Amino acid sequence: MAHREQFVVKPGKRFSLKKVDPDYKGHHRSSGAAKAETEENREKLASLQALFWAEKKHSLLIILQAMDAAGKDGTINHVLVALNPQGASVTGFKVPTAEESAHDFLWRIHPHTPALGYIAIFNRSYYEDVLVTRVHGLIGKAECQERYRDIRNFEQLLADHGTTILKFFLHISPEEQLKRFAARLEDPRRNWKISESDYAERPHWDKYMKAYEDAISATSTASAPWYVIPSNHKWYRNVAVSRIIVETLEGLKMSYPKPQVDLRDIRRKYHAALKDEKSQK
Ligand code: AMP
Ligand code: MG
Repeated sequence: MAHREQFVVKPGKRFSLKKVDPDYKGHHRSSGAAKAETEENREKLASLQALFWAEKKHSLLIILQAMDAAGKDGTINHVLVALNPQGASVTGFKVPTAEESAHDFLWRIHPHTPALGYIAIFNRSYYEDVLVTRVHGLIGKAECQERYRDIRNFEQLLADHGTTILKFFLHISPEEQLKRFAARLEDPRRNWKISESDYAERPHWDKYMKAYEDAISATSTASAPWYVIPSNHKWYRNVAVSRIIVETLEGLKMSYPKPQVDLRDIRRKYHAALKDEKSQK
């Protein structure tokens, strides 16, 4: 419980990003111990997912939102990689296509929400529709308020169907972003990640932070809470996100379903089959 409480945005309260230091790294002086804990959490995540899959009573939606280079891909690579792909999906949401734009903003989202037993990860999400659109004046204040309401209702609909929702904002500083852009420029294996929009959006940093504060304040609810994660240190981000997911799954109090067969009968069949097998040799 402790870790969730540390980073959760309390529903109904005005949230300010100034309260979260992106450089925060808890009691960890360096990455070593945190990396070991992340590894432990990945193992826990894998066994909790096995239970989650067997039980098929819940579904989990993990939303990753952040500025460019803040670590959405890295979180998937280093934390969510622990999941068995059979029960998981990752969907990245890009600039809407012409067909998507001709529908309401949640139309393209719903088919990707998780069925019972499944974990769905959104790399960006419908929150872009109250962030990038807001920063660039594509929607006005009134429309934005309507969308917050639509989002709360949509998330409640999912929660009513057994979906646990975890929303992460990976918070970095603009200085850290520029360092990561430099790394992208210097490392030929990362050059492909550079996009014009990286530099086009950077000058709007303050507007983005305001849009995030407004959206997070309006949509952090008991059934779909936001967690704001200090993310300047990648290893701290990984340990914080992995702790919160593990705690959430542990909180579901899951148990393996009872077998649908009579085990005594199956045991008899097994021993008969074994005897048969031996007698044929
Ligand atoms: P990336 O995730 O870095 O590959 O970039 C995806 C781009 O798509 C980002 O610039 C997003 O802001 C943009 N994007 C995603 N969803 C929307 C949306 N609903 N409206 C406008 N732009 C979007
Ligand atoms: Mg990008």
